[in-house]
Amino acid sequence: MTVKLDEKLEPIFQDVLHRNPGESEFHQAVHEVLETLGPVLVKYPEFADKKIIQRICEPERQIIFRVPWQDDSGEIHINRAFRVEFNSALGPYKGGMRFHPSVYLGIIKFLGFEQIFKNALTGLPIGGGKGGSDFDPKGRSDDEIMRFCQSLMTELYRHLGEYTDVPAGDIGVGGREIGYLFGQYKRITNRYESGVLTGKGLEWGGSRARTEATGYGTVFFTHEMLKARGDSLDGKTVVVSGSGNVAIYAIEKAHELGAKVIACSDSSGIIVHEKGLDLQTLRRIKEVERRRISAYTEFHKDAKYVEGGNIWNVPCDVALPCATQNELNGKDARTLVENGCIAVAEGANMPTTPEGIDIFQNARLAYGPGKAANAGGVATSALEMQQNASRDSWSFDYTQKRLEEIMIEIHKNCHETAAEFGAEGNYVLGANINGFLRVARAMNAMGV
Ligand code: GLU
Repeated sequence: MTVKLDEKLEPIFQDVLHRNPGESEFHQAVHEVLETLGPVLVKYPEFADKKIIQRICEPERQIIFRVPWQDDSGEIHINRAFRVEFNSALGPYKGGMRFHPSVYLGIIKFLGFEQIFKNALTGLPIGGGKGGSDFDPKGRSDDEIMRFCQSLMTELYRHLGEYTDVPAGDIGVGGREIGYLFGQYKRITNRYESGVLTGKGLEWGGSRARTEATGYGTVFFTHEMLKARGDSLDGKTVVVSGSGNVAIYAIEKAHELGAKVIACSDSSGIIVHEKGLDLQTLRRIKEVERRRISAYTEFHKDAKYVEGGNIWNVPCDVALPCATQNELNGKDARTLVENGCIAVAEGANMPTTPEGIDIFQNARLAYGPGKAANAGGVATSALEMQQNASRDSWSFDYTQKRLEEIMIEIHKNCHETAAEFGAEGNYVLGANINGFLRVARAMNAMGV
């Protein structure tokens, strides 16, 4: 945490540290927001008087529970799961579930905290929440995944509801897992409550363009940032970290808008294909065969796989971190700037470290923080909820159009808010303040 906080905000941060010991990712996410809120308290002293920031920093409810399940050999495993219902000022708690061995309360709290502002930025009626488990899906059979999801939902269902809390996917949770979770919810409650989960299959209440939405949205946002500088994505060289759902559809949309994506990665290494990545191959490896990206070179002899390689060393005009938190540090940021990178937009949540963000900001490149740049995923989840509520199903083109309009609006709001607070081009400040004000006004209106 490189920036010093305003004297009114430092005690609030100290209190967060004190109340949430050892949760470094949560501390980082809170600090990043507080760094930009100083001028807001000057302009709106009532929010300080009503302790809105202190109230936002404390989740409304935190649920921690045991998930016992049996593997294919009959052995019993016990995992821990979480659902942090952070803020419901704008709507039911909304946010994904993450299944990854690194998950603990601090990760879920950081994600839930980010989600409050991200969801507010969409302009749609959704509050902020997040959940997950330290369960490692890697190498698990389909039956094991099903049993785990069923056991998790056997406890979680009592906390959910289309007007209460609406989970979706995140790292390790895709369409298959949402199916098993929804099936168990339906079985236990005897209700076909479509709007209780998003990211569902198209035949049973899902929305077209939801799978693509986070990656597409990140690229729409990038395009808007470049447009604001009189530039465009056309002809740009792009590097995308990760190779999951967000990365794959960011690559697809970047190609559609005339850019060339030359590299992507997974936790083992990177693929560099100077001709431009072949999406067909990537989708086959990741979505159908569920293999590592090293397999890409089996199909393209002119591509290079570098085991343990650092994707940020690949020179590019535009960098899209779409893997995970803190995947891009100060040194990486410096390398990108030195190599002439002009725009960075975050498809992942908090992928850039505080030092990295400082370097991007000082270099004045177009830097779109995750809570704005990747809001297209959750925005389309809200569109899925709308379709469920009206028992309707929209076309792909219509849904994508709505997504694009939402991303254009988020960009405009962040841009205008930054300018209003004397920080033209600072999307971190614009996103934090715009998101905060929406939540703060609602909380203020509803009383203590
Ligand atoms: N996990 C996604 C995010 O980080 C999507 C959440 C949702 O669709 O509810 O925003």
